[in-house]
Amino acid sequence: MYLLTGKIVCGGCDKDYRGSSYTSKGKRFNYYKCSGNCGNRQIRKEEIEALVIEQLVKVCFSKEGVRSIVQTVKEMYRAERKQSKKDIAPVRKEISELEAKIDNWLELAGSGVKGVIDKIKEAERRKEVLEFELHRMATIDASSDLEDSMILSILNKKKSLLLSEGEEERKQAVQEFIEKVIVLYDEPNNQFDLSIKVRLFTGGGEGNRTPVRRSQYIRFYGCSPST
Ligand SMILES: [Zn+2]
Repeated sequence: MYLLTGKIVCGGCDKDYRGSSYTSKGKRFNYYKCSGNCGNRQIRKEEIEALVIEQLVKVCFSKEGVRSIVQTVKEMYRAERKQSKKDIAPVRKEISELEAKIDNWLELAGSGVKGVIDKIKEAERRKEVLEFELHRMATIDASSDLEDSMILSILNKKKSLLLSEGEEERKQAVQEFIEKVIVLYDEPNNQFDLSIKVRLFTGGGEGNRTPVRRSQYIRFYGCSPST
């Protein structure tokens, strides 16, 4: 199980680093390797995974880190609520327009006009989507601020996943927290220059409807090349 699959990329050529292994003298060696041909060195799986988790815990779960995450999540939630408030009226309007159209088409449906049934079906589908969205927005609009304690308890759960004995759990947490790990071998240091792009949280914010990712880079040196 390679925890960083899909997240770890070559700083030399931008291609993926892929998990791989070989057996020598009955011992198995696991590593990640550039899938391009740029000559960037391969990196030991266990070493890089342990380092990445250590950095995540240090940066995201330090007192400072936790405080900043709680703050960010609250801000994003507030922004989302503000946006929901704005969006509710137009969505309601679109739903009632759709309903009027559907009524008209239903009258036509009996008279054998072609294509009407399809239009009705399409409008019904759109209406369903909008109603779901409306429900979501109304729920957010009616809710109060997120409690620190709630965010903290979620964060603690994530932290225990990250430090869990189970590889499946660790992978889930790593994949959720990390946007990217960029690996570049640094010859004079005989070490890798590593950058982790951490994804703090996803959700709406900044007054637009597209999900915003707050992220942050952690840069450090570590790991010797595996061969
Ligand atoms: Zn490469």
